[in-house]
Amino acid sequence: MSAPALHSGPETLRASFAHYSKQLSPRLQIALLVGAIGTRLYLGQFIWLDLSAFVTWIALWPLVEWFLHLKFMHFRPIQIARRTLDLAVGKRHRRHHFNPWDLSLIPTPAKIYAIGLPIV
Ligand SMILES: [Zn+2]
Repeated sequence: MSAPALHSGPETLRASFAHYSKQLSPRLQIALLVGAIGTRLYLGQFIWLDLSAFVTWIALWPLVEWFLHLKFMHFRPIQIARRTLDLAVGKRHRRHHFNPWDLSLIPTPAKIYAIGLPIV
């Protein structure tokens, strides 16, 4: 008798990549990256600042990711007067922590991009 499966998600790196590549979030991020690189290539006249901006972005991204995770995804509900403010992204992330193998809870929802992209 074999041990029960702990999760029903992809079992291999290839299957995980196939699953992840079908999600909106990575497709949108790749499109944005290709658009930014394409625009920069089109404009030409590279300077060291271009490379340093890229390296700085890569170096700071883990801190940005941690900050967003801490401040938004782990946002605790607060009482304002008689109402409770609980961010939808916080509710979703709590569900993810409760059931980490539910892969539908991992990608960033499209509406977050609809709100965040105009800000960026
Ligand atoms: Zn978390």
